[in-house]
Amino acid sequence: LQIAPSSIGEGMTHILHRQIHASLPVAAGGKGIELFDRNGRAYIDASGGAAVSCLGHGHPEVTAALHAQADKLAYAHTSFFTNEPAETLADKLVAGAPQGISHAYFVSGGSEAVEAAIKMARQFFVETGKPERRNVIARRQSYHGNTLGALAAGGNEWRRAQFRPLLIDTHHIDPCYAYRYQKAGESEAAYGLRAAQALEDKILQLGPDTVMAFVAEPVVGATAGAVPAVPGYFSRVREICDRYGVLLILDEVMCGMGRTGTLHACEQDGVAPDLMTIAKGLGGGYQPIGAVLLSRRIFDAFAEGSGFFQHGHTYMCHPMACAAALAVQEVIARDDLLANVRAMGAHLSRRLGERFGKHAHIGEIRGRGLFMGVELVEDRSTKAPFEPKRKLNAKIKREAMARGLLVYPAGGTIDGVRGDHVLLAPPFIIDAAAVDAVVERLGDAIDAAV
Ligand code: PMP
Repeated sequence: LQIAPSSIGEGMTHILHRQIHASLPVAAGGKGIELFDRNGRAYIDASGGAAVSCLGHGHPEVTAALHAQADKLAYAHTSFFTNEPAETLADKLVAGAPQGISHAYFVSGGSEAVEAAIKMARQFFVETGKPERRNVIARRQSYHGNTLGALAAGGNEWRRAQFRPLLIDTHHIDPCYAYRYQKAGESEAAYGLRAAQALEDKILQLGPDTVMAFVAEPVVGATAGAVPAVPGYFSRVREICDRYGVLLILDEVMCGMGRTGTLHACEQDGVAPDLMTIAKGLGGGYQPIGAVLLSRRIFDAFAEGSGFFQHGHTYMCHPMACAAALAVQEVIARDDLLANVRAMGAHLSRRLGERFGKHAHIGEIRGRGLFMGVELVEDRSTKAPFEPKRKLNAKIKREAMARGLLVYPAGGTIDGVRGDHVLLAPPFIIDAAAVDAVVERLGDAIDAAV
């Protein structure tokens, strides 16, 4: 399968795309793990869009649920009504949530969820008589969304720079990223505690009475390429948050809802947040939906205080979005697809190791479940990154598409840290033969690009 890269684009449109001059193929259909363009070319969706399409495309049970819901009720404003799909979905999410979570708040995507979680944290402290707690601590090399509040939380300087001053006072520390920050001779456990210590140091520097929340992705997605924290890091983070009365917000928009092999990624870190954001895989791309899962403590503060959460969107609790998410989550549970995520994740990790373990330009292969990152380096022995001007990620994306493969490359320079990686997040329904095809096509694309 060889398609000249120049034949992939189909010309300019009247849509303002992310890249002004993007010339993109027109997506015309999707079935299972594949997407098809208007010219009938098939692409294995090994990025699940952006870790969204967990159930693949065109799933008949989800589309049937959507049709049925459209026939019954498409929209009812939340100031007048609640609705059945939203109520059932909330019951399900709370039942499967980490300890302490008592309610779900539905929005239309990841940024809205992060935005709402930050406002919940702020209102929590206003309601409980501590309005001076306004600072947020987050991590460099993180992405929490593109709306102004979520953008303030994220550490991706390239995205933030031109929108300063940002709306929320956020202070960034390094993520837990053993490969980059572990010292020679330092054990993983010692490194994890040192990485968490940076949080305590920052809280003390700012003054504990001014800090509202610590926001973190359990497995760093788009900005770092599927980097999990070392064992012990998040339990220490939880202890530190509790010691200083700081709320822990875990952003599982990308790594959550089964992607890492457990329903929530934080289960593997043995930690429960005060607030958690989910989106992407929640609705599997069939409808835009996101949610904040909040703990009883936050709910009680609102209930005993003003009796309101001072927020709201026109499309919150959207019946179609909730019906789609319910259908997606029911199929995942019924077909035990998380077992497949774990099995195919192990297979993918093995195959990536075989293909790239000794590759001259691969620095690290990491991740959990079907959320894997492949890091690219100029020099394998020193791990020196490629020059950002090589625009490697754009080349890999193009070469992969030319081979009928969709992957999620990123890099260049993020937060002053140079490096490139490719993120893989295929649908949970992928089988071993398709995993093999993904690795083979990715290997060829990387070889062609570097
Ligand atoms: N948080 C994380 C961890 C994300 O990866 C993303 C999206 N990549 C967001 C928030 C924002 O989600 P959305 O694009 O749906 O607004």
